[in-house]
Amino acid sequence: MRRMFTAATAALTLTTAGTLLAGAPGQAAPTGWGRPVVTAAPQPGAAGLGDTYFPDYGNGGYDVGHYDVRLRYDPATDQLSGTATILATATQDLSAFNLDFLLDVESVRVNGWAANTSTTGVHELVVTPARTITRGQQLTIVVRYAGIPSETLVGGYTGWTRTDDGALAVNEPEAAWWWFPSNDHPLDKATFDISVSVPTGVEVISNGVQPRPPAAEAGNRTRWIWRTTSPTAPYLAFMAIGQYDIVTDTTPSGQPVVNAYSTSLGALGPAARASIERTAEIVDWQSGIFGPYPFEAQGGVAGPLDGIGFALETQTRPVYGPGFWRRGANTYVVAHENAHQWFGDSVSVAEWRNIWLNEGFASYAEWLWSEEQGEGTAQEVFDFAYASYPADSEFWQVLPGDPGAARIFDDAVYDRGAMTLHQLRLAVGDDAFFEILPAWTAEHRHGNGTIEQFQALAERISGLDLDDLFTTWLFTAGRPDVASTARKATAAPTEPKSWAKIRESHELLSH
Ligand SMILES: [Zn+2]
Repeated sequence: MRRMFTAATAALTLTTAGTLLAGAPGQAAPTGWGRPVVTAAPQPGAAGLGDTYFPDYGNGGYDVGHYDVRLRYDPATDQLSGTATILATATQDLSAFNLDFLLDVESVRVNGWAANTSTTGVHELVVTPARTITRGQQLTIVVRYAGIPSETLVGGYTGWTRTDDGALAVNEPEAAWWWFPSNDHPLDKATFDISVSVPTGVEVISNGVQPRPPAAEAGNRTRWIWRTTSPTAPYLAFMAIGQYDIVTDTTPSGQPVVNAYSTSLGALGPAARASIERTAEIVDWQSGIFGPYPFEAQGGVAGPLDGIGFALETQTRPVYGPGFWRRGANTYVVAHENAHQWFGDSVSVAEWRNIWLNEGFASYAEWLWSEEQGEGTAQEVFDFAYASYPADSEFWQVLPGDPGAARIFDDAVYDRGAMTLHQLRLAVGDDAFFEILPAWTAEHRHGNGTIEQFQALAERISGLDLDDLFTTWLFTAGRPDVASTARKATAAPTEPKSWAKIRESHELLSH
């Protein structure tokens, strides 16, 4: 998917990179046999997790287990208010800690005691508790807040999309800042209860399942309640608020399905339904290739005409902009976003520089879907994609394995990323390749991964040294030579039937 804030953030945060690794979680104070035990004074938690691209994303010193986000929203004014109750565990002795958040904070309590707060940097809320916190301590952090997310700008940008009839809290990699305080990095996943009170007649869709039907509240309002019981990275939590037709069902495998369609779609509505209603079929097919589906529910949300221009793999329920339906049904974007449920959502990047593990794999899932649909084999899609970028194209100058913070959604991460997986498949053979994919999703299920770990797994299963392949395709500028690969790319390959849909999707998903 695509959003515009990344470059600005990177510029703002790089200057502090050097100091952010200190105090990252998991760093124990050095103590040793025979040395006097020195009790260090509690320190503030780090303002970031030291991500190479986004050093101040996430925070050090604690690990979140659960977010209970209880909100009230009014589409007429875009006024959002609420209480976030965060259950966390301290990973060091703490004098203070940060949350990533932008809205106005009324109060913060830590284990019942009122805390002092201040703000610093782009999106840092600094919480100084009344009592110091010891390593291993259970924390209940209660944040009361309010604001107008569409008017809360960072460098002129908001990740919150206000629409005619509501809003979309859907973005990557920055989304949570505009609607709940969090430890905003994929390294700290948690479960979520999200409930939102809106004027009766407005729908709210979020992740997971509805433990209770919407309930009437005073003042002609209705509260919608959603729960996700699988670990979720904060940016993959979402809300879609507005006028939606909601379609619920159960898959043949017994999973709840919730699909929702903006009533604004008009003539695009049937194409949206003809795509998203195939989610369970596509997920079932993917489960046979990628391994068991990692979550407790499925679905999709077709956003409104004036909403987002991209799609995002929000956990258990991707959200799609209207552009995907303009030329009829598009199941390729459904295959892409649902492949992310394994590659991105269950196995998340350990650092954002590993974005190829998300986009390369979700793009290759489209090539596999093309093969399954009889609209062009993966080899035919490879040949056409490879030939469509001339050797002197800028496309070949971006490294999918390390594109830079401003280019994590570049075409190269998607298309050259998928080409890389196809080259891996040719190198190791189909038997090993289709063993590597489910092994990866099993070994890192509900966790994180790096490109280096994926290469090691592929080498273990195939028994081959793959260093040249990964270095050439992911980390070297210039168009790789395919003359020596098992199947040569022809000079003027025929366009596969799937290409128009795949290209159309990638133009919206990347830039
Ligand atoms: Zn994607």
